[in-house]
Amino acid sequence: MGIFDVKLVPLLIILFNSVWSTSSNSISESLLQCLSTHLKHSNSSKEIILTRNSSAYSSILQSSIQNLRFLNNSTPKPKVIVTPFHESHVQAAVICSKKHGIQKRFQSGGHDYEGLSYVSYAPFIIIELFNLQTIHIDVKNESAWVESGATLGELYYLIAQKSNVHEFPAGSCPTMGVGGHISGGGFGTIFRKYGLAVDNVIDARIVDVNGRILSRKSKGEELLWAIRGG
Ligand SMILES: Cc1cc2nc3c(=O)[nH]c(=O)nc-3n(C[C@H](O)[C@H](O)[C@H](O)COP(=O)(O)OP(=O)(O)OC[C@H]3O[C@@H](n4cnc5c(N)ncnc54)[C@H](O)[C@@H]3O)c2cc1C
Repeated sequence: MGIFDVKLVPLLIILFNSVWSTSSNSISESLLQCLSTHLKHSNSSKEIILTRNSSAYSSILQSSIQNLRFLNNSTPKPKVIVTPFHESHVQAAVICSKKHGIQKRFQSGGHDYEGLSYVSYAPFIIIELFNLQTIHIDVKNESAWVESGATLGELYYLIAQKSNVHEFPAGSCPTMGVGGHISGGGFGTIFRKYGLAVDNVIDARIVDVNGRILSRKSKGEELLWAIRGG
């Protein structure tokens, strides 16, 4: 049996402890302005930036919370939910939240039961990656590019459609997100032979704290060393 080396698109989680000196509302306004400016060439910015007034805000927030204990009124809510369709939208969210001192929570499959991908006790935004779910499988080279918001089930399904002798060593729950699962290692039923999911990452495109895209080509082996846990 062959094995896929999956290259994925994880995003660094960067937490900021910022001094909250301006009023919360004015920061929300300036954050929104910053996002709108950065996304002005995108014709779907209303779909990407969801405020509490957006009709999709509540349903997306609720569907992203997998631990139902957090589904109550006392759980802090994000100022904005950003739903990127392209890596440039992630860059915009990172740049604007940094500029305005707002924390961010990245979410792929939402399976973090401690709420790390959707709860913060400081003002925050959620960068919800479900629209970034493209999977390109290259059977000839035994590799695949997988976007963070794809689920393991989608990855397994597409591999099986293309090949009956390949697999990817990762967890058993099909609704887990590739981004969060691989970021945490990711073990499954064939890991004793093929290692963890993260051991099989051979390249990545990462948005860093300054909104730059890093890749193996631009950053070399150190990037992969860090992704694999050092
Ligand atoms: C029902 C269930 C079954 C599970 N089974 C297994 C299993 O078989 N094997 C196993 O190893 N683990 C298993 N887990 C654990 C699972 O792998 C982790 O909870 C994993 O972090 C979930 O990833 P997610 O993307 O779905 O979750 P999320 O909640 O979206 O993300 C989890 C964490 O990763 C961060 N993150 C998400 N996307 C990115 C990204 N693109 N870049 C950087 N950080 C990101 C989030 O901010 C959060 O801190 C299971 C969990 C559950 C709830």
